[in-house]
Amino acid sequence: MTKKRKTEEELAEELVCSECGETNIQVKVWVNANNHKEPKGATEGDIADNWCEDCQEHTEHVTRKEYEELQTTNDYEPNISDG
Ligand SMILES: [Zn+2]
Repeated sequence: MTKKRKTEEELAEELVCSECGETNIQVKVWVNANNHKEPKGATEGDIADNWCEDCQEHTEHVTRKEYEELQTTNDYEPNISDG
């Protein structure tokens, strides 16, 4: 087993691009207009405030865990069993 810098739990909570799964993402953050400091927190929920450097477009940001779930979901055919 190799030692990782981040625990699996931390990685799962890390935000990634919902399109490419990379962490090279940015989000708009409100700061004090006078000194551009004192961040008031990132805007949330608006895809227009999200940016992925890799996709070069506005994408949804999800946790790595959610991303992996998305991939799993996409891989599966709709499970319509007539059994
Ligand atoms: Zn991306």
